[in-house]
Amino acid sequence: MKVLIIEDEYSLADAIREILEKEHLDVKIVTNGLDGEDEALTNIYDLILLDIMLPKKNGFEILKTLKEEKIKTPIIILTAKSEMNDKLNGLENGADDYITKPFHMKELLARVKIILKRSANIEDTNILSYGDLTLDLSTGNLKCNNNEVRVNGKELKLIELLLINKEQIVAKEVLTDKIWGYDSEAEYNSVEVYVSFLRKKINLLKSSVKISTIRGIGYKLEAKND
Ligand code: CA
Repeated sequence: MKVLIIEDEYSLADAIREILEKEHLDVKIVTNGLDGEDEALTNIYDLILLDIMLPKKNGFEILKTLKEEKIKTPIIILTAKSEMNDKLNGLENGADDYITKPFHMKELLARVKIILKRSANIEDTNILSYGDLTLDLSTGNLKCNNNEVRVNGKELKLIELLLINKEQIVAKEVLTDKIWGYDSEAEYNSVEVYVSFLRKKINLLKSSVKISTIRGIGYKLEAKND
């Protein structure tokens, strides 16, 4: 499961990462509000730990955007004791929990586990589906009715991102960043190549779902109406 930490105090964020990685969680740290918001909007995280006082954009503004964009990722607010109003504000604005700084890592971990367990009970996070298409993230099996194909590596990541954002456009840049990494020099065209691989597989499955190209922007999954 993936956790996003939006916190400008890097040493704190790094200490949290260390403890979460011991629990086999996949952790990403972002140290300013603007990048944090972009990252949260990718909607690939199972939990967000959100600081309030952040450079470029504060935690409340981020909460507001996520609410507007209907991002349902659970959020725990990390707030300083002097900002007790943050608690009320945060919970009113859609956060699931808050923890006051300084806190014990054990306490944070306990809260993280409660929230992740709660969401795991709501949905089996290994399975993503849209229309007649189902993807098992643990095996890479992509299914439609009785047909099945295997996807792995970059193809798996690509179909995962498209399924998570079903019916919403995913920008090509976002796909490149998420699949090849920010620093990579992946050809912009690589996304197109992998999209065409996936289209072939989806065709083989005889699925009614298709990957639509939104020219100059990116891609989205749509279910054909016929
Ligand atoms: Ca801060």
